[in-house]
Amino acid sequence: MLKLQDITEAAPMDDKCGRCTQSICCNSINQSIDTPRSIAEFDHLLWQVSHENVNIFKDADGWFLNILSLCQHLQNDGACGIYEKRPFVCREYDNDFCELDEPIHEGAELFFSDYESLDEYCRKRYKTWDRRFD
Ligand code: SF4
Ligand code: SF4
Repeated sequence: MLKLQDITEAAPMDDKCGRCTQSICCNSINQSIDTPRSIAEFDHLLWQVSHENVNIFKDADGWFLNILSLCQHLQNDGACGIYEKRPFVCREYDNDFCELDEPIHEGAELFFSDYESLDEYCRKRYKTWDRRFD
């Protein structure tokens, strides 16, 4: 993550993070979640995706909540304000192929940004979806 003019270890030949003017990976968190299998579990996801700045996606690594929220340590110049004490997840982030190369919504197998899109998916997946409240 990491703006990373400082992240030379991650990008030795290319100031890739320096060119990433939005510091994309510092503007959101991706939290792994259990693979939803039941109508009740998808109904729960429906509640989560109904909130502002919350997306849900599935890619080769599984299902995730994508929460768009600016890290409080991101400086105006794109540098990390706690670089020496930044969390491990930031230290271990690899920019070889990151969200600058392919935004999540383009690379994910499934991507839901709102109630309507997930509701439509569930209706196709479960014949009884619309009868779950009966
Ligand atoms: S999204 Fe990629 S290029 Fe942009 S700051 Fe993060 S690791 Fe660097
Ligand atoms: S702690 Fe630093 S590197 Fe980590 S997300 Fe925040 S600004 Fe980015």
